[in-house]
Amino acid sequence: MAEREWAEKNYYADLGVTSSASQEDIKKAYRKIARENHPDKKPGDKVAEERFKKAAEAYDVVGDEHKRKEYDDFRAMIRGGGMGGTGFTGGFRSSGTAGNFQASDFFGQSGGYSPEGGLGDIFGSFFGRGGNPRQSARPTRGADVETDITLEFREAAKGTTLPLQLSGEAPCNTCHGSGSQSGNPSTCEKCQGSGFTSENRGAFGFSAPCSACGGTGEIIEDPCVTCDGRGTVHRTRSITVRIPAGVVDGQKVRLAGQGEAGPNGKPSGDLFVTVHVRPDPVFTRSGDDLEVTVPVSFAELALGDTITVPTLDSPVRVKVPAGTRTNRTLRVRGRGIKKGDLLVTVQVTVPTNLDAAATSALRSYAQAERESGFNPREGWEGAK
Ligand SMILES: [Zn+2]
Ligand SMILES: [Zn+2]
Repeated sequence: MAEREWAEKNYYADLGVTSSASQEDIKKAYRKIARENHPDKKPGDKVAEERFKKAAEAYDVVGDEHKRKEYDDFRAMIRGGGMGGTGFTGGFRSSGTAGNFQASDFFGQSGGYSPEGGLGDIFGSFFGRGGNPRQSARPTRGADVETDITLEFREAAKGTTLPLQLSGEAPCNTCHGSGSQSGNPSTCEKCQGSGFTSENRGAFGFSAPCSACGGTGEIIEDPCVTCDGRGTVHRTRSITVRIPAGVVDGQKVRLAGQGEAGPNGKPSGDLFVTVHVRPDPVFTRSGDDLEVTVPVSFAELALGDTITVPTLDSPVRVKVPAGTRTNRTLRVRGRGIKKGDLLVTVQVTVPTNLDAAATSALRSYAQAERESGFNPREGWEGAK
């Protein structure tokens, strides 16, 4: 069987098996067809005769492991449109993609038809069926996307989800990203779906992206018309991104798989979101500790009191012990960012326009304070 006819044949279909069928399954399938359609059994039945012949022809090739491999390689190349296969000995050098090769390269070096049924046949079949540049050297993953967002301090501290509008490659709605009209791209026969082919050069083995499928492991035989078989279309998509709690200003958050859609259902790229955080009027942060400065009166510090302090959630009641100095920081465990603490700094606010009653009371207090022997500058270096 000359290779020139291989492009037109689907031996696996003729035997009713898939291209990944084992040699044993192929043998069984052939025997069954041969038994059921044998001319001795169905004399004069043209359909049966045709089936019998086809199965015999198919089995002659794919029933033989070695011939089968040649056939697989050949078909993979024809369908993928990639001429940079590793299995050829025709003497040409290809760039590896159908889109780039020059016809003159072939003609110049191969000398056209070769009686061995080699390159000349391949060449003719190749042009007869047309290459498919779209299927060569496709990326196996969608592109990464970068974007910026600005969050309020509290959103960043607590984590948030927000909608984003991104324009770029998104899964095609017609084919649901497969690129195939039927939704069933076939497994690349050349690389068995791995996307890689290996080749031995002397003592060394090389692994290279499969030239038939461009490294995707799949071949699209019925390209989707909406996306031209790519599986993706350029459009604006709305996504909801989740920003984890505790991001700091300028931090880059990686959202795996939220980038552009991969071709033909391949994995999406990642989305990198640079987060800008607006300052908060009440809180600052130190690592995961949330800091807040609370104005208090002298009396609250001197006598002790319980004050209400805001947090990222509901306010907490914080006990200020009697005799607390101003600017002291009190720690409330676990009420900061994530597992951090809330650091409450108490700071005295001095009254500026007390009413008569309060002024009078304060004078009495000052008098009593002196009489008690309290001296605010006692022990102070500057007093010496
Ligand atoms: Zn599509
Ligand atoms: Zn392949």
